[in-house]
Amino acid sequence: MATGQCTVVVGCQWGDEGKGKIVDVLAEDVDVIARYQGGANAGHTVHVGEEEFILHQIPSGIIHPGKRCLLGNGVVLDVLQFFEEYEALAERGIDLGGRIGVSERAHLLLPFHKALDHASEDRASEKIGTTGRGIGPAYEAKAGRRGLRVADLGGGERMEKRVHEALERARQRMGGGPDGLESEVRESLKLAERLSSLATDTGRELTEGLRAGKRVLLEGAQGTALDLDHGTYPFVTSSNTTSSGAGTGVGIGPTAIDSVVGVVKAYTTRVGNGPLPSGFEPEMDQHIRDLGGEYGATTGRPRRCGWFDAVLARYSARVNGLTGVAVTKLDVLDTIAEISIAVAYSTEDGGSTGEFPADTWSLESVRPRYETHPGWQADTTRAKTLADLPKNARAYLDRIEELTGAPITMVSVGTERTQIILV
Ligand code: GDP
Repeated sequence: MATGQCTVVVGCQWGDEGKGKIVDVLAEDVDVIARYQGGANAGHTVHVGEEEFILHQIPSGIIHPGKRCLLGNGVVLDVLQFFEEYEALAERGIDLGGRIGVSERAHLLLPFHKALDHASEDRASEKIGTTGRGIGPAYEAKAGRRGLRVADLGGGERMEKRVHEALERARQRMGGGPDGLESEVRESLKLAERLSSLATDTGRELTEGLRAGKRVLLEGAQGTALDLDHGTYPFVTSSNTTSSGAGTGVGIGPTAIDSVVGVVKAYTTRVGNGPLPSGFEPEMDQHIRDLGGEYGATTGRPRRCGWFDAVLARYSARVNGLTGVAVTKLDVLDTIAEISIAVAYSTEDGGSTGEFPADTWSLESVRPRYETHPGWQADTTRAKTLADLPKNARAYLDRIEELTGAPITMVSVGTERTQIILV
């Protein structure tokens, strides 16, 4: 398997690539799993036997007995959601003792951030399509140097004063805000006190662990096209989802990371607003959405679907410095007669480009140049090796590898942990 001692798992499309499943498979061989950015807007779904776990805030590695799971400083921590998941996992018999650590430097996401998220999305002329979980406002407060962090908990009067100011500022921005906001904030902070017992310096812990020979997985949320700097701005999330965000988001240097696995779906999906160049016509859109169960794990929103976009995949491979690619949901295409890949974009001026453009709005007018491949129209869900796959499925993967420019190291052919081909 092309992973090293310290591996980043990063989404290479618009999120929802099935990172949860890939992290779940790779988690088997590591000691520590750490989330490096995002908040409770990321929904990882992991299937183990009959059981389904949907985790938004706690790393999905928690389902593996004995592994240590960390939330890095780059994460915004939704206190209510965190403890809801914590209790739910405990109720389902998962032993959590000493297994979860939260960065002292992680920012708290409090109820007024959610209220602000709703208020600003309601008022915006150009909607981002946020999940309404308060992520944007929490990162805004962080960059605006008025955020509240885990290390501030137990800060007595100083903390009180800063919470009060943050609440007042939020109220001013909203022109009031919902009833009961203050008591919700009090509730969250009372709960947040419990976080102090889980607080750790994730950078130090990981560095010491790596020195001692431990293996580490750094888990990203969302995907490259949603990265604050490298994605389809402004239809992006408020953090660096790409692999370089991993070091910053947990507190280790880039030299500590030795492999980067990029996760791509065998086709493309996008939830929220913003252009999707290789998007299907409505009928096919609905067909693939149903076959792939493409509805958001956090919000239940239908995802828009399209053909595999090699322009984006190649861009992602470069931006993330991929050492390996994990292709997921190959089985979703099992019944499709002809499968296209977007290999370049035709531009409005009659030209053509293989580069993913910085001008997001130009993505609305580009027309993908497709290459069409015969489908395999056979069941792939029981394949254990590449050789078990139909010839056309192998050819499709070979072409994805060639166009993306990074070696395929894993292929997922179903929701189950065991439905994975390790190349
Ligand atoms: P993530 O946020 O990137 O982890 O993606 P989601 O959890 O939103 O979406 C992944 C969904 O696809 C989950 O329901 C997974 O169980 C499912 N999934 C993952 N890999 C595969 C696969 O290879 N085939 C199929 N059919 N489903 C998969």
